[in-house]
Amino acid sequence: MIIAIDGPAGAGKSTVSRGLAKALGFLFLDTGAMYRAVALKVLESGADPKSEVQCRALAERHRLSFDAAGRIQIDGVSGEPDVRSKRVEEIVSAVSAHPRVREVVVARQKAIASEAHGVVAEGRDTTTVVFPDATLKFFLNASPSERARRKALEAGTPELQDAILADLVRRDGLDSTRLHSPLMRSPDALVVETDGKTSEQVIQSMLERVRARAARG
Ligand code: C5P
Repeated sequence: MIIAIDGPAGAGKSTVSRGLAKALGFLFLDTGAMYRAVALKVLESGADPKSEVQCRALAERHRLSFDAAGRIQIDGVSGEPDVRSKRVEEIVSAVSAHPRVREVVVARQKAIASEAHGVVAEGRDTTTVVFPDATLKFFLNASPSERARRKALEAGTPELQDAILADLVRRDGLDSTRLHSPLMRSPDALVVETDGKTSEQVIQSMLERVRARAARG
């Protein structure tokens, strides 16, 4: 079974998807971590984030996978926490915008999913491009201010909420206006509004939908 979860940055996708995968005993496929891993290799190798050729070569050269806890591995070595750095965040949208990078990363995502008995795949484009035939699709949403508030709390910097809000809006803009795989809601995705709900409450409501879907066969 493939469950695909999409939505804008800061809607709670990571926490909820990780929790849902754990509750179901499924593999957690964190697609954003894969683009972050390519961006990290771009930084480490001194490549140009704007060069599609260089970025694609790095995406092909390094083997991306996940450990049992759903953490990104680059050539078998954990990419955490380096893939979450500010420097990576600054270039990841540029790196992920290259169609030839996406081609390599998406092929890898499909291969990883085909080897697992159950997958929770998280990331913009998972419901539309990567897994259009997913068993279930969710689109997690929250208001921009709520998304910024959560990110600021998560980072332990509540005073930076306004700056984080500006960055979220900037990234949403870049990700939704790019030519290839822009952030879009699949018409058959179930929309889950997460404002005012804890991640536990969101996971529970999604679990009910998954069980209902599984009962239908
Ligand atoms: O979700 P996360 O913040 O880890 O994603 C990091 C970046 O990776 C996003 O800002 C976006 O540029 C890119 N991304 C993507 N397609 C995905 C997941 C993430 O382009 N499916």
